[in-house]
Amino acid sequence: MSETTLVNPADETVIGTVRHTTLEEVDAAVDRAVVAQRAWAALAPVDRARALRRFAATVDAHIEELAQLEVRNSGHPIGAARWEAGNVRDVLDYYSGAPERLIGQQIPVAGGLDVTFHEPLGVVGVIVPWNFPMPIAGWGFAPALAAGNAVLLKPADWTPLTAIRLGELALESGLPEHLFQVLPGRGSVVGDRFVTHEKVRKVVFTGSTEVGKHVMAGCAAQVKPVTLELGGKSANIVFADADLEAAASGAPGSVFDNAGQDCCARSRLLVQRSVLDRFLELLEPAVRGFRVGDPNDEATEMGPLVSKGHFENVAAFLDGSVPVAFTGTAPDGPGYWMAPTVLLPTRTDRVATEEIFGPVVSVLPFDDEADAIALANDSIFGLSGSIWTRDLGRGIRVARGVESGALSVNSHSSVRYAAPFGGFKQSGLGRELGPDAPLAFTETKNVFFSHS
Ligand code: NDP
Repeated sequence: MSETTLVNPADETVIGTVRHTTLEEVDAAVDRAVVAQRAWAALAPVDRARALRRFAATVDAHIEELAQLEVRNSGHPIGAARWEAGNVRDVLDYYSGAPERLIGQQIPVAGGLDVTFHEPLGVVGVIVPWNFPMPIAGWGFAPALAAGNAVLLKPADWTPLTAIRLGELALESGLPEHLFQVLPGRGSVVGDRFVTHEKVRKVVFTGSTEVGKHVMAGCAAQVKPVTLELGGKSANIVFADADLEAAASGAPGSVFDNAGQDCCARSRLLVQRSVLDRFLELLEPAVRGFRVGDPNDEATEMGPLVSKGHFENVAAFLDGSVPVAFTGTAPDGPGYWMAPTVLLPTRTDRVATEEIFGPVVSVLPFDDEADAIALANDSIFGLSGSIWTRDLGRGIRVARGVESGALSVNSHSSVRYAAPFGGFKQSGLGRELGPDAPLAFTETKNVFFSHS
């Protein structure tokens, strides 16, 4: 029997073990899900809506428990973990309106009428990474369930606890048995089986670009729909005319939130050369003041990295070859702690081009608007980003010029569930969230009714 020993990343204490789901168990879960899905899809839309609202209410009643679990398993600061649990509730609430709104079209055609139906796909497999175990799961399972599908959820091996609890809460809320099954285990076993099993009709994958390509190739073998939310190296672009104080005070949160383990992290800070020195003067106290420490402390803004292995991956980028502008602070002692670090690399240094997924930001000067856009786009990724300027026209031009799926002007806003989310280029394929997400979990069917 294989299992994973889970470790609290803040103090390195063992918090439990989780048994891995075997291949045979995944296949049995798929068979159960097929049966559960048929009954779920046959329910009246209003009853599916009500069931999702009850699930949302049950999550709401367990926000604190879920948040505490995430603090122990992932090291997220308690305030952030509460937000993440609340996001699951909100996304369920948002999509609970969908079952009654999955309406098609009636199209007048010669000889009769053509009617569009949005049929559920069947069983959907959702594969989640370790960085935001709760929200990323919810962004997949809530619209998929709302569209009449069954869901199999594979959490990351390292951070399965909140997903397992969400599976229990679904049942407690009255969601039908086997409709939403959480299957902890290895990506190469459970996740891969979602890809290869013919009765799993769609895969929603969030994770690394490398594994995402593998998943996409596997899905191609069955022409299976797949959504990919992958890596990023997003740019935070600060023009000379911007409110520099606001841009500098927000910059640490935009990259060090979740210890930089965020696909939307603005890990490249592009600053117009004429204000570079002034901007760094403003940034330094903001970085030094970014509160890194005990995740249970309400004031903490950044916790530890998720694991020893990931800590070592991030630390390997800090090999002394690139000048360090300044760093913040981090606790000593046990735990995978790393201080926020601001680097001054060249445009071609590895730290400036590769996704680090840790609390490290590269500051890169640019000359003018065209240079800023070219530099921002000089990446295989295109997920997120921010633009700071007081010139509305420039804000519009640069936002249109940057090849990225989710941008914000004069703020560091990133994912909002009411708006579509996803990446350009190797940051992903397809969009999650927003009002149309349930449609992405359906097949469109057109039926011609003859009037003769
Ligand atoms: P991985 O790609 O290693 O893992 C992601 C998930 O895929 C895990 O559940 C993993 O399981 C599973 N998996 C691994 N191998 C396979 C396989 N062969 N077939 C199917 N599933 C598999 O990514 P990380 O967990 O390291 O997550 C970090 C990455 O995720 C970063 O690159 C980040 O940018 C990206 N990300 C993207 C987001 C977006 O929305 N665009 C959001 C958040 C993160 P196991 O845990 O067992 O390895």
